[in-house]
Amino acid sequence: MSMTYVSTRGGGEPRRFTDILLEGLAPDGGLYTPAAYPRLTPFEIESFRHLTYPELAFAIVSRFIDDIPPDELRAIINKTYTSETFGSAEITPVLPLGDSGLALLRVSNGPTLAFKDIAMQLLGNLFEAVLARDGRELNILGATSGDTGSSAEYAMRGKRGIQVFMLSPAGKMSPFQTAQMFSLQDANIHNIAVDGVFDDCQDIVKAVSEDAAFKSRYAIGTVNSINWARITAQIVYYFKGYFAATRAAGERVSFCVPSGNFGNILAGHVARCMGLPIDTLVLATNENNVLEEFFRTGVYRPRSSAETRQTSSPSMDISKASNFERYVFDLLGRDGAQVKSLFASLSQSGGFQLTERLAAALASAPIQTGASNHALRLATIRDVYERFGIIIDPHTADGVAVAQRYATRGTPMLCQETALPAKFAETIAAALGTEPPRPKDFAALESLPQRFTSLPADVDAVKAYVAARCSR
Ligand SMILES: *Cc1c(COP(=O)(O)O)cnc(C)c1O
Repeated sequence: MSMTYVSTRGGGEPRRFTDILLEGLAPDGGLYTPAAYPRLTPFEIESFRHLTYPELAFAIVSRFIDDIPPDELRAIINKTYTSETFGSAEITPVLPLGDSGLALLRVSNGPTLAFKDIAMQLLGNLFEAVLARDGRELNILGATSGDTGSSAEYAMRGKRGIQVFMLSPAGKMSPFQTAQMFSLQDANIHNIAVDGVFDDCQDIVKAVSEDAAFKSRYAIGTVNSINWARITAQIVYYFKGYFAATRAAGERVSFCVPSGNFGNILAGHVARCMGLPIDTLVLATNENNVLEEFFRTGVYRPRSSAETRQTSSPSMDISKASNFERYVFDLLGRDGAQVKSLFASLSQSGGFQLTERLAAALASAPIQTGASNHALRLATIRDVYERFGIIIDPHTADGVAVAQRYATRGTPMLCQETALPAKFAETIAAALGTEPPRPKDFAALESLPQRFTSLPADVDAVKAYVAARCSR
């Protein structure tokens, strides 16, 4: 049976994977999601135990992508998950924290030192293959305040048929993040430093995307976290972590996931739906606790940008969780009409309540939750350093802080390390009084030559810049 994708809002016809790969939202405003999750028997899961990371990735990803020939898909996966790109053949190694029962699942050893590389690197190779097959080109326009933009650029650099136009607020990113992006010399990567703040950059991207004629003439696309291919790639490391932390079939493992847009932990939810014996998923937020509030009370209330705080775990500073709708779709028994009425009216209603549905779902598939804050984050970085000699980044610290509340004897708790501390040196210095070590390839990052264009915060200026660099 072939895999098809449907909208969480129930509209449209089922689509195949390569039809949705280059699209954002479904036409009805929903998110594409598998018509049904693939189910694995305990025997099948156990047969994956000794696979290498690329073999495991193929075993899982091929259940979701069945309209690229298997040999081609295998080749794409093999060239994505290499020890050259991810630092070790394990790709996502597990490091126990002493005998505490906690361990780190290290998912951030990719080129930009954050977990988004795992999915983005695969996305870049999938894009290139599908564009070549169809003789198409794609011009990615995005806005970033740091993480996502650099991850996308490192995934798309040098790819045939793809150009990246990445807007960032001039002078507002950390020197490390700026250098990471601006030191790329690839001709298909265009860094645009906008004279404004991050919201200005986002508004420009939105305005260009709303100009349908411009968008289709110049084949404009995005790389946002709602892309289903990204979720698929993330499912793999839940399996990898499971096998690293267990010895035999049926043993259970819990995961703790520092969360913002609900993309990473959604992959854990799907892995569990596929049959992976996950005991508890622990969702950790920072001060921006939209998701913590939902899993505690059943009330989902997105925040305004004025209510969204800037924190020392900035990659989790979200006002609404863009992947959350896929979880709600499952919670409501995959009733697209009901999802549509909840989300379509969100801007008027300000929120919705699913307390009973949530309680019923969590009874069989537990998700525990907690919110961290600046003081707890720093204390946790200190504590983990003192007890185990390991420096963790501020996002990972939010996870470890919350995970400790839910760790139970006999069930390993894998805390995802979603970024390396080198990216957030200032916060580490505030916690430990010393800067974190840098991976050696990054030693002289800030002194590399930088390549970028400065533009005013003006839609037409950005459009003209893009148009001059696109064919047609
Ligand atoms: C993006 C990001 C997160 C949040 O992941 P979601 O999939 O949005 O929940 C957490 N930590 C780091 C370091 C990130 O870059």
